[in-house]
Amino acid sequence: MDDGSISIATRRPTRKITLAHRSNPVSVGGDAPVSIQSMTTTKTADVEGTLQQIYSLFGAGADIVRCTCNDASAAEGLARIIPRSPVPVIADVHNNYRMALAALDAGVHGLRLNPGNIRRPEHIKLIASEAKDRGVPIRIGVNGGSLDERLYVKYGGRVTPEAMVESAQMELAYFEEVGFDQVKISVKASSVPLMVEAYRQLSEVTDHPLHLGVTEAGPPPAGTVKATAGIAALLAEGIGDTIRYSLTADPVEEAKAGRVLLEAMGLRERKGLDLIACPSCGRAEVDVIQVASDAQAALEDMEIPIQVAVMGCVVNGPGEARDADLGIAAGRQKGHLFVKGQVVAVVAEKDMVKELVRWADMIAEEGVDGALTHADAGAAAVAEADRAELLDVQGEDVNRSEQRVDLIRKHLAEH
Ligand code: SF4
Repeated sequence: MDDGSISIATRRPTRKITLAHRSNPVSVGGDAPVSIQSMTTTKTADVEGTLQQIYSLFGAGADIVRCTCNDASAAEGLARIIPRSPVPVIADVHNNYRMALAALDAGVHGLRLNPGNIRRPEHIKLIASEAKDRGVPIRIGVNGGSLDERLYVKYGGRVTPEAMVESAQMELAYFEEVGFDQVKISVKASSVPLMVEAYRQLSEVTDHPLHLGVTEAGPPPAGTVKATAGIAALLAEGIGDTIRYSLTADPVEEAKAGRVLLEAMGLRERKGLDLIACPSCGRAEVDVIQVASDAQAALEDMEIPIQVAVMGCVVNGPGEARDADLGIAAGRQKGHLFVKGQVVAVVAEKDMVKELVRWADMIAEEGVDGALTHADAGAAAVAEADRAELLDVQGEDVNRSEQRVDLIRKHLAEH
């Protein structure tokens, strides 16, 4: 059951920074909701292709999008992308400090610097003071895989949480020298225990907002699980102000995963479909996996916060999913449709998904109470008869326990 009254954690207080998009500014930290980031995979010089991906990411739930700024053509691309992007754009800069300055010239809403790659203090301070003059926040993006060599040596040739935190603090000290404090920080690693501990330690020593991620998590599903393990563990401790899934996949999958995680943890209001489905078992009267994925595909673009349940049998399904706005349970080549636990129609099995969509539309237009006025008066009785018949055939217990117990006793008595 989704209980919005229970909060997953008290957020650790952080200062707030803002990415100043002209029509859609996004704040990170403070009382701002945890935001979702993703990164484009196109060449930034490909303006139309990159914008298309930014729009797809926006549609999937991304609040902020990052694009690489690795050469002059990418910086020029940014200048053309930024006025047309629906979300703030952050330029990702690794090795060349001049690319950070070019990205600022392009009008980016934020910068990400890797302290392991841009090391000369005069370059770091120049970027920070230029960003300060323009009111552009910077993320100090420490990465376990590209830690500053000096720290690597200092910490015994190992990447440790302490080394990652120190790297962030060194960069922060340069920023402070020029009076720049519009900063968020990340200390990502591909090892979940390492990144969790690094963020824990970092949150003890700074109140700058934190950007969470497990770097190079890999392809789904393993990558999604790894990223979720690290990000969710920290969010459950109240640590984290913005998140990114780094998956080897279409970045739309990153944005979707971020949205689903925040919705599941009660950190973001659900705006679209929440499909729940039973795991299926020996009682299932239909291919639950197929029906659930057909329903997901048919309903996922709905822009109302609706919870839809797909249950494999009418014996347990409607009861287990009684809190869903809409649901369907299979039984005897039929689908029992229910709204808030009340059976409203019994439909042919082949029409289950089509009818789910029709009732979802009805709920979108008239609300749950309005939809209930269309309930088929005889449906509840038909459903109850189907359920009783199935119970009769299968018994309350699909494992036929009593018969098995008799069998065990019989065999034991024989030997
Ligand atoms: S709803 Fe029915 S088919 Fe699905 S897991 Fe429960 S008992 Fe099994």
